[in-house]
Amino acid sequence: MHIGAAFEHEFVDVSATGDHHPFSLQAFRQAEPAGSRLVTVLQNAGLEPENWLPEYGRHQYEITVAPTDAVTAADRAILVRDTVYDVFRAFGREASFAPVITPGGTGNGVHTHIGLRDAEGNNLAWDPSRPGRLSELAGSFAAGIVRHGPALAALFAPLVTSYLRLAPHNWSTARCFLGLQNREALLRICPTNEMDGRDPAPQLHFEFRGGDIGANPWILLGLLLRAGMQGLREGLPTPEIVVGELDLDGAHAGLPQLPRNLEEALETLKADEVVTSWFSPAFLATFEAIKRDEYATVRTRSLAEQCAMYTEVY
Ligand code: GLU
Ligand code: MG
Repeated sequence: MHIGAAFEHEFVDVSATGDHHPFSLQAFRQAEPAGSRLVTVLQNAGLEPENWLPEYGRHQYEITVAPTDAVTAADRAILVRDTVYDVFRAFGREASFAPVITPGGTGNGVHTHIGLRDAEGNNLAWDPSRPGRLSELAGSFAAGIVRHGPALAALFAPLVTSYLRLAPHNWSTARCFLGLQNREALLRICPTNEMDGRDPAPQLHFEFRGGDIGANPWILLGLLLRAGMQGLREGLPTPEIVVGELDLDGAHAGLPQLPRNLEEALETLKADEVVTSWFSPAFLATFEAIKRDEYATVRTRSLAEQCAMYTEVY
C-alpha cells in the first residue's frame, strides 16, 4: 500500500487590524502583497502550493500544498510554516498558527490528508457499493484511527490551548468519529469534486482534523499510519459514518469523547497499551514529563494569557 499525504495549514495574520469578512475578496486582498509572494516562494521552492484562501476566522488564512509521500509531506509541513513566517515578516507582518489566538475565537487546525493507493496508483479507499463509498480496507484503516483517537490526542493536540479548539460548534473536532459532510469529525471522508463529470474514484481520501501546530508532523503522520495499520491487522469493521450535522443531544450523544485537557490526554495515552507499545519507554517518559511541566506552568495563567503565550511561540 502506498500513502499519499498532505498537511493543510491555517494561520492568522495577527498584525492585521480593521474589519474582517470571512472568505471575502476583501480579506484575500488584505493579505497582499504577502499572499501572492507566499504562493510564489512556495512554488519556487518546489512545495507545490494548491490553494491559498481567506478562512472563516478573524484575519485567518489557509494554505494547502499538493500530496506526496508521507515523509516528504511532513518535511513540507515544516517548510510551509517557516516560509509563512518569513514572508509575512518580510512585509512587516506577524503570522501565528497557534490553536486559538483569543479565547472563544476560531481555531487554527493543521489537517492531515491521507490517501491509500496500490502500486499501480489505483485508489484502495474507493468502493462505490459501500457506505460513504469507502472500501472495506479503508474502513478498517479508519477504524484503527477512530479507536485510538482519544489516546493519540496528547500527540496531535499537545498544547494547553489545543483543547479550547477541540470543542463542539467550532468547525473543529467535537468527538472521536468518522464523518462525511461533517466538519466536526476527527476523521473525515473528504468530499469529492464531481463538477463537469470529474471522476470521484481517484479523489476519495481521508482528512484527519484533530491536529494542530503543536504536533510534530512526522510523529503525527507516523501515528495515524500505525493506528490505521492496526485497524487493518485486526480487520476492524468500518466505524459508524456520521453523515451531516452532529446531534450531540440525540442520535450522536454516545460518540466517544476526546480528552478535555492536556492532563487528561496524557492519562488517556498512558492507558492505551497498543499506542504506548509504538514508542520507547524513554520517549514516553520524557514527553510526559515535559508536557506535565508545560501544563502546570501554563494553566495558572488566564485563558487570554495562555492564548497569547502560544500565539507568540507558534
Ligand atoms: N478552523 C477549523 C479548525 O480549527 C477548520 C475549518 C475548516 O474546516 O477549514 O480545524
Ligand atoms: Mg480550513
